[in-house]
Amino acid sequence: MIDSILSRAAEGERITQEEAVALYEQAPLDDLGAAADAVARRLHGDEVTYNVNAHLNPTNICVVGCGFCAFAVWTDHDPRAYAYSVDQLVDRAQEVSDLGITELHIVGGMTREYSIEYYEDLFRELKAALPSVSLTALTAVEIDFIAKMAKITGREALERTIAAGHDTMPGGGAEVFSPRVRRIIADRKVGADVWLDIHRDAHEMGLNTNATLLFGHFETPDEKVDHMVQLRDLQDHAIHHGHPGRFQAFIPLPFLPGNTDFSYLPGPSRDEKLRTIALSRLVLDNFPHIKGHWVMLGEDITSEALSYGLDDLSGTLTEERIAHATTVQTPLGLTHERIRDLVASGGRTPVERDSLYGRVVREPVTA
Ligand code: SF4
Repeated sequence: MIDSILSRAAEGERITQEEAVALYEQAPLDDLGAAADAVARRLHGDEVTYNVNAHLNPTNICVVGCGFCAFAVWTDHDPRAYAYSVDQLVDRAQEVSDLGITELHIVGGMTREYSIEYYEDLFRELKAALPSVSLTALTAVEIDFIAKMAKITGREALERTIAAGHDTMPGGGAEVFSPRVRRIIADRKVGADVWLDIHRDAHEMGLNTNATLLFGHFETPDEKVDHMVQLRDLQDHAIHHGHPGRFQAFIPLPFLPGNTDFSYLPGPSRDEKLRTIALSRLVLDNFPHIKGHWVMLGEDITSEALSYGLDDLSGTLTEERIAHATTVQTPLGLTHERIRDLVASGGRTPVERDSLYGRVVREPVTA
């Protein structure tokens, strides 16, 4: 039975939730990887895309207090707290723009001082200073937070942030959709219904978005697959209704226990990381890309996972702070050359892309 599900999935046929759980639990890892690799190669050949981007995290003060998060602090009295003004962030963006970035990735903590007006100002100022740089900003959880503070709907908040320069939405805040798991790891965070509603609105309004899964803590295989199937259903909805926005990439994020409330957990094994990545490629048959967050996966697993369904990397990530608040050993950013070497080490061809997956062709550097 496993062989027949695998060969159907490798051909691009849709598999059911039950079949996906059976694959996750019973398929030999190499066979699962080979099927996912066949799908990725059919979609993308041997190309693996990446972009040149930098992170701006406006503040690490956050009132949500998720147990799995090592990045946030509760109050500005915490000695680790920081909060940047719009001017400070624009100055920083101009400094990192010398690296040739095409995207700024802007996410952070949630606190009353960071209202929708703050983000409107920030996006307008960044667009004025760096008009060709895309703003991938604000998770669905942040959109919900700033909308509630402004007493408007999530859709109205998106209308305003898009008018100010919001280009695409990252996939954070999804964690695991299971209410049981959310109660354990993120009991004050909004539920799956809100997260999915905001992405549905974003797609209707023409914004492309991503989706994450934080795996390797308390979730069961069934809950992991259910999360993927809910995302697949929402992408079906966008396609069926002809919405101008879609999910671009699914990003499986391995849980990093260091400096979190769950530091007693071991975190996911190599087998679990590769198995989850491969399964996501087979379940999410309507997602163009499976993206590897190399900071959280580690460079060795990232390279290996390029044969297990990954076709896209999370970028050079200058100034990444969120994963680095745990105890990961990966660098704060990779140079353009090093990320190309990472792709080549996995036997693939690196291709630079922009935030909408258009190819970026750079002038050769002359001495
Ligand atoms: S994961 Fe996000 S919402 Fe949760 S505490 Fe960290 S910054 Fe706040």
